[in-house]
Amino acid sequence: MTYIGKDIETAVALLENNKVIAIPTETVYGLAGNALNPCVVNKIYEIKKRPLTNPLIIHLHDTIHINKYVKNIPAIAKKLAEHFWPGALTLLLPKNHLIPDIVTAGLPHVAIRIPSHPTTIKLLRQLDFPLAAPSANPFGYISPTTAEHVKKQLFGKIFYILDGGPCTLGLESTIVGFDNDTPVIYRVGSISPEAIKKIAGKVEINNKHTARPISSGMLPSHYAPHTPLYLTNNVDELLKTVSRSGTGILAFKNLCPVIVEKNQEVLSASGNLDEAAHNLYKALHQLDSLKLDRIIAERVPNVGIGIAINDRLERAANKK
Ligand code: AMP
Ligand code: MG
Repeated sequence: MTYIGKDIETAVALLENNKVIAIPTETVYGLAGNALNPCVVNKIYEIKKRPLTNPLIIHLHDTIHINKYVKNIPAIAKKLAEHFWPGALTLLLPKNHLIPDIVTAGLPHVAIRIPSHPTTIKLLRQLDFPLAAPSANPFGYISPTTAEHVKKQLFGKIFYILDGGPCTLGLESTIVGFDNDTPVIYRVGSISPEAIKKIAGKVEINNKHTARPISSGMLPSHYAPHTPLYLTNNVDELLKTVSRSGTGILAFKNLCPVIVEKNQEVLSASGNLDEAAHNLYKALHQLDSLKLDRIIAERVPNVGIGIAINDRLERAANKK
């Protein structure tokens, strides 16, 4: 069985007993367990069917505790942390011996974030270990932004889903590492490159696919529905080449007049990119549940958080 509930004490008891549960965050729901226990971390990989080469993010509630798990924090990382934490920024910092190698897939840096979701902050305060928590979905599939999404995808695999309501941001954190004093974005996310540049003075983006990705957000196929997804700048043009029946539309602002409304999702009627990010995974889950032959998705303006939305859509379109 898998239960959805709001009881933080239950969550604490399960986590202290080395169980893996789902937790809410402001980005997406996480599949959480004691980051200091390699067996628990191994369970997270197993439940997700995630390759052991793809490291996990650890979550803490206070910057003070981070010093316990890292060798040092570069000055520029401190500056970003002060500005964006708690929030959707994940920093790659040199880990010390307390963080098991399985958490970082053998890499010398550990990904750390202080989330802002009030339920999860309360939960973390009651634990004396950090939580390793990748997104609570089977590897490669659409990330969950509600407790129901998690239940649908991981039913029977975990006992408890701590319900914190729909995720306010709805898109993953931005993962930032450091090349001397330059922040390097390894996964674009809820915090835009511009926002990071504003604080750090400079920023680089390196989220291209490599033979051994250091960030799973670098994989060419990820965040993908079961239904084949095609990405376009021009929905009308693409529609000329396929059958209209069996086609779903993921539109940025406007409904498409020639497709039935129930087969369409609009990300933001007013063209607001934050709203579009918030609705992205919910809309993909909804369209995928219709079991259509194809989904045509429209690119959004490639600025601010729109860069991360397009990045997810491109990877969702790359399913083999
Ligand atoms: P998820 O929460 O499912 O989006 O997964 C966590 C993300 O953080 C994945 O893209 C990981 O590959 C990435 N990540 C975790 N640890 C590291 C690390 N040490 N270096 C680079 N990327 C990391
Ligand atoms: Mg994920």
